[in-house]
Amino acid sequence: MNTQQYIQLENEYGATNYKPLDVVLTRAKGIWVWDVDGNKYMDCLSSYSAVNQGHCHPKIAATMHDQIDKLTLTSRAFRNDQLGLFYKELCDLTHSHMALPMNSGAEAVESCLKAVRKWGYRTKGIPEGQAEIIVCENNFHGRTITIIGFSTEKQYRDGYSPFTPGFKIIPFGDAEALEKAITPNTVAFLVEPIQGEAGIIVPPMGYLKQVREICTRHNIAMMTDEIQTGLGRTGRLLAEEHEGVEADLTMIGKALAGGFYPISAVLSNKEVLGVFQPGDHGSTFGGNPLACAVARTALKVLIEEGMIENAAKMGDYFMERLHAIKSPYVKEVRGKGLLIGVELYPEAGGARRFCQSLMGKGLLCKETHDNVIRFAPPLVITRDEVDWAAERIESVLTA
Ligand SMILES: *Cc1c(COP(=O)(O)O)cnc(C)c1O
Repeated sequence: MNTQQYIQLENEYGATNYKPLDVVLTRAKGIWVWDVDGNKYMDCLSSYSAVNQGHCHPKIAATMHDQIDKLTLTSRAFRNDQLGLFYKELCDLTHSHMALPMNSGAEAVESCLKAVRKWGYRTKGIPEGQAEIIVCENNFHGRTITIIGFSTEKQYRDGYSPFTPGFKIIPFGDAEALEKAITPNTVAFLVEPIQGEAGIIVPPMGYLKQVREICTRHNIAMMTDEIQTGLGRTGRLLAEEHEGVEADLTMIGKALAGGFYPISAVLSNKEVLGVFQPGDHGSTFGGNPLACAVARTALKVLIEEGMIENAAKMGDYFMERLHAIKSPYVKEVRGKGLLIGVELYPEAGGARRFCQSLMGKGLLCKETHDNVIRFAPPLVITRDEVDWAAERIESVLTA
């Protein structure tokens, strides 16, 4: 079968909620992927940061092969010999007291929302049905009805009402707005350390520190969504470390299993996650031994192979190379570590055409919204490979 035939099958039988670039991939290794016609590309999206460790990392693959022959699913009706070790290793690494395993990022976010509401009712004495959660404009936290109900992106909400009440939206990066929005019924504030889907929006330095201080002073839970920014992407294990803060709850997902398996987790102090009693919350696949085994190795290689330090170094170098490009189309280059956005002027005719041209030159990336190109390669990229990417990006941005 050829590219057109694969695309035709997708178009004929698939729900049409995505509009991918017309490249059909069949194998991958590290930062490189190959299509069904044998063309090779550098992956500068990393499956939305789910393959930080590089595609098909051999050690993660070996763990997966091993575990598949031993035990894959027990449900939480019984225990398994991977979950406890996964908890301990994850909590040690992130200085958390407790963790809750789920599958997708959106489920981790939903789990947090449930936990902080219950925490508010049980420990803060907020009257039942009155809990308020503060969120930010231009947020992205997933696609469930509750989550899109507090999105400010028109298309994400359109046609899906009615929505879950109890959310208040404030501007991102504005600590004063947070302070003003807090009422006696506020239980929590949910924020991305860098807004990824909104176009790699980096808040002012000191913002998270101020947020931490305000949340502590008002006794509300600070929740950081690190599903995209976490696990080394920005050059630290968690992006909140850049400001030396620890949230009360942190959601991670995406790269937690290096792209091999869907697994997400809520990291928390004992106080908030501790509100869950048996039966309060659950998931058939959450905490399954295959996910846990794979995630343990995915975390291990992230640390042992120096990927986080490499993300910091290569991120700085990549940004330096991008800043040096003199293009009439580029409005701003921004980001942290290997989460980089190049914003184009609206007159440039949209980011998608540049992504299309880059594909023609062997580099895969994706626009986010209309005018931002996101560059987020796997964290194993080398200096020579950054040079290779920068040359191609320069040539399309100056054409
Ligand atoms: C991707 C993402 C999610 C949702 O994760 P899914 O696994 O797609 O449900 C939530 N928050 C952020 C910041 C994300 O980037």
